[in-house]
Amino acid sequence: MVTLLEQPRRIPGGLHLDANKAQSLQQPLRACSIPEQLYIPLSQHIGEAAEPLLEVGDEVLKGQLVARSPVYISAPIHASSSGKIVAIGDYPVPHPSGMQATCIVIATDGKDQPVDTGLKMDTVFDADPAEIRQRVRDAGIVGLGGAGFPASVKLNPGPEREIELLVINAAECEPYISCDEALMCHRPQDIIDGVRIMRHALNARQVVIGVENNMPQAIESLQRCLEELSEDAIRITPVPVIYPAGGEKQLIYALTGEEVPSQGLPLDLGIVCHNVGTAAAIARALLQGEPLISRVVTVTGEGVRQPANLEVRIGTPVAELIEECGGYTDEVARLLMGGPMMGFSLASDAVPAIKTTNCILAASYRETPQATAASACIRCGDCVDVCPAGLLPQQLYWYARARNFDNIQDYNLFDCIECGCCAQVCPSHIPLVQYYRFAKTEIWSLDSERQFSDMARQRHEFRIERLEQEKIALEERRARARKALKPKVGDATAKQAEIAAALQRVKAKKEAQSAGPRNTGNLTEEQQAKIAEVDRRRASTSGQP
Ligand code: SF4
Ligand code: SF4
Repeated sequence: MVTLLEQPRRIPGGLHLDANKAQSLQQPLRACSIPEQLYIPLSQHIGEAAEPLLEVGDEVLKGQLVARSPVYISAPIHASSSGKIVAIGDYPVPHPSGMQATCIVIATDGKDQPVDTGLKMDTVFDADPAEIRQRVRDAGIVGLGGAGFPASVKLNPGPEREIELLVINAAECEPYISCDEALMCHRPQDIIDGVRIMRHALNARQVVIGVENNMPQAIESLQRCLEELSEDAIRITPVPVIYPAGGEKQLIYALTGEEVPSQGLPLDLGIVCHNVGTAAAIARALLQGEPLISRVVTVTGEGVRQPANLEVRIGTPVAELIEECGGYTDEVARLLMGGPMMGFSLASDAVPAIKTTNCILAASYRETPQATAASACIRCGDCVDVCPAGLLPQQLYWYARARNFDNIQDYNLFDCIECGCCAQVCPSHIPLVQYYRFAKTEIWSLDSERQFSDMARQRHEFRIERLEQEKIALEERRARARKALKPKVGDATAKQAEIAAALQRVKAKKEAQSAGPRNTGNLTEEQQAKIAEVDRRRASTSGQP
C-alpha cells in the first residue's frame, strides 16, 4: 500500500544549481515555422527502429503514418507536415557519437494539410484500457522526459498488477530546461485530460503531479484547470528544489518515502510514472486525433539571441530553431541537446529535433567551461555525499577503469541515473559519468554477444536434432515400404498351389500327347472304328509306323 506523504521529502544527495530558466520563459510558448525539409529519423525511441512504409516520390499529409513499428518495444513514425518524400537514407542524428542514421526526408509544401488519422476517440473515458493503449501506440507516443520509452508499454502493467499510484513527473529539475513549465503554464487542459486518460487506462487508485516548488505559475495554472473541471482526485504536490529531484526514483521517494528496489521498477511498488509532456501528447492524440508529430523544445543559452520555448515539428533541423530564436550571438561556444548536466554535445546544428529533444542549449564559454585535465582520485568522498542513488561513485570509477565488469555490477552500476552530480563536485575533474557509460555499454555489448552465441549454439543443436529425426523418419519409411513389398503367408500358399496345378496340367497334356493310340475300351464298335481310322491317318501324316 503506497501512501502519499503530506510533506514531501528531500531526496538524498543532489546539488543546488542555478535554475537559469527565466531566460526562456520570458516569451510565451509559440509554434516554430514549418522548415523547408524535415529529417525524421526512424529510431527516436528505446526499442527497434521503425520500418518505412512509403517510398521516395510519395506525397504525404500531416500526421500520415510513414514508418510502422515492427515489434512491441518500438514506436511508429508520422509525417510532421504535408509534402513529398525526397529521400530515405543516412543523415546526421542527435547522438553523443555524432553518428548518422536512417531518416525519411520530407520536402514540405507549406500547406500543412492534415490526414484523418483515426486516432480520435469519442468516449475515451469509458473506453476499454486495451483500446486506449492501442491508440497511444498507434500515435507513436514515447516518454517525452528524455528516455523515449514507448508510452503504451508503460500503460500496460499486466492483468495481475494493481496500480496504487500514478505519478506525473513535472519536476523538471535540470537547469535551463523549461519546456514542461511552459506547457503547464500554457496548456494545462491538455495535461489534465491526458492524466485522466492515463488514470482510467491504469485504473490507478491515486494520482499525483509532482512539481518543483519554484514553479508557482505552473502550479497555479494546473490548479485552476482542476478547479474548472471539478477534478478533485488529482493532487498537485510541490517538491523541494534540488537536482535531480526529477529522476523517476528520486521523485517517487520525495512523494511517498518509498525506495524503488535496486535494479527494480516503480511497478514493483505498484507505481507508474509518466512525464507531464507525455500526458499532454496522449490527450492530443486521443481527443484531437494528432499523433506525436511535434513537441515543446526549450531553445536557450547565452549563445542564442532570443531564448524561448517553441512547439517544434519532429524532424526540424536545430539550425532552424536557432534561426527562429533570432540566431546565434557572438558568445556561442558549444551546442548541447539537453541540459548542462545530462545533455550531450552536438557536432553540428544540421541534426533534427526528435521526440526526446527537450532542450537545445547554445552555451557560452561561461556556461560550459572547458573540461579541465583529470588528475588522480584523492578519495575525498565528495562524490559519495552527492550521489542521489546512494552509490559509491569512486568505486564504480575504479572498476570501470580496470574493466572489472563483474565487480562494478556488484556495486550497482545500473542504479546510476547518470545525473552527473559526482563529476560536478569531483576536485580531480574526473569525467566519472563517461566511465559509467563506457562500462554500461561494454556490459550490454558483452551480454548481447553472449546472447548471440547462445542463439547460434541453440540453432546448431536444433539442426543436429532435426537431421537426426529426419534420418529416423526416413528409416521408418523405408522399413514400411519393404514390408509392403513382402508377400503374406496365406498369399504364398495359394500362389504355390496355383503354380503346382498349372504344372500338373502341362504334364498331363504332354503325357496325353506322347501316349500313342487312345484307350477306347468303353466305346462302341462304331466309335472305336472311327478313332482307329483317325489314328491311322495321323500316323501316316506324321511318318510314324
Ligand atoms: S570526488 Fe573525485 S577525487 Fe573525490 S573520491 Fe570521488 S572520484 Fe575520487
Ligand atoms: S552519475 Fe551516477 S554515480 Fe554519479 S552521482 Fe549520479 S547516480 Fe551517483
